[in-house]
Amino acid sequence: MSASDPPTRTRPPEGHDTPGGLCDTCVYQHLIRNTRGSGFSMCGRSRDDPRYPRYPRLPVRTCDGYEERPEAEAAQEGPR
Ligand code: SF4
Repeated sequence: MSASDPPTRTRPPEGHDTPGGLCDTCVYQHLIRNTRGSGFSMCGRSRDDPRYPRYPRLPVRTCDGYEERPEAEAAQEGPR
């Protein structure tokens, strides 16, 4: 395994998703899909800050780097 390979799958296959915790509504989350259709949740903060793992173990329940995505805010408000 090279350093760029995901060490473990952090998300189940599509259709069997479980919540990724904070990452699912964080502006820094990048969803990566490989050629076999497996999905991974990558932390964008890991590029510049070694305190954040590239592929955090999900679900993430607490994170100092969390910043809510604007669409997550809108989804929580619900229909008007
Ligand atoms: S900053 Fe924290 S909550 Fe956001 S994607 Fe990275 S690990 Fe997940």
